[in-house]
Amino acid sequence: MIFEILTLFPGMFVSPLKESILGKAQERGLIHVRVHNIRDYATDKHQITDDRPFGGGEGMVMKPEPIVSLLDALRTEEPQPWIVLLSPQGRSFQQECAWRWSALPRLALICGRYEGVDERVAEFFSDEQVSLGDYVLTGGELAAMVVVDAVTRLLPGVLGNASSAEVESFAEPVLEFPQYTRPREFRGHPVPEMLLSGDHEAIRRWRRGQALLRTKLRRPDLFARLELTPPDLKLLHQAEEACARGPCSETLGGSRDC
Ligand code: SAM
Repeated sequence: MIFEILTLFPGMFVSPLKESILGKAQERGLIHVRVHNIRDYATDKHQITDDRPFGGGEGMVMKPEPIVSLLDALRTEEPQPWIVLLSPQGRSFQQECAWRWSALPRLALICGRYEGVDERVAEFFSDEQVSLGDYVLTGGELAAMVVVDAVTRLLPGVLGNASSAEVESFAEPVLEFPQYTRPREFRGHPVPEMLLSGDHEAIRRWRRGQALLRTKLRRPDLFARLELTPPDLKLLHQAEEACARGPCSETLGGSRDC
């Protein structure tokens, strides 16, 4: 998969893209991340990429011409890129979106700066606008890195364990169960006994109950979307009862939810 990043700050991408899974995915040719400096497409002698807002007001707005010239250059190559503008005003970026984009051959991500990008880029030259959340970043670069990361780990061959992406939070609208590793007891806090039982089916049921309970307590919005089967309802009920009986750390991985 090819990612095309349109930014005024290409240097921001150097280190994050070299590390860990993203670095390895590039080395293995599973992704290509091409970072383009929008300034290179400004045609005036000072290579200006922003200007004052029409109608007055604070700050500067990114001009449409350099961004659209860069998009035109990208469009001369096949396959055509799906063009996304990172914006706090876009639709919320969710795991479903990461899955959908992971099936694309080429994704272009436009990173805004300052007061944002001239609205005509959003309206006439982008396929989609996405927001990372209800907060304002200084620029779209960190948001673009999040998108590249979330999409890349879904591509075949990227994660060591192919099933990891499928069992974790949001694969369905359920948060992942609590995870523990050695030591068995840490500063007086033991791991839940069930996980040491060696009974894989019982562990699977316990984890499912914990995942459902977590989702209900922490993310009622996701929980409301779930269609619980009778076995799920039973496991949830058991997890709730266990939570009511003992300290939460035994059932919710140290969470203070209940
Ligand atoms: N004035 C704009 C507004 O109120 O909507 C905010 C502009 S913000 C300072 C500059 C750029 O950062 C945006 O154009 C966008 O590319 C990026 N950005 C900021 N917050 C973001 C978010 N929550 N999700 C995605 N991109 C964001």
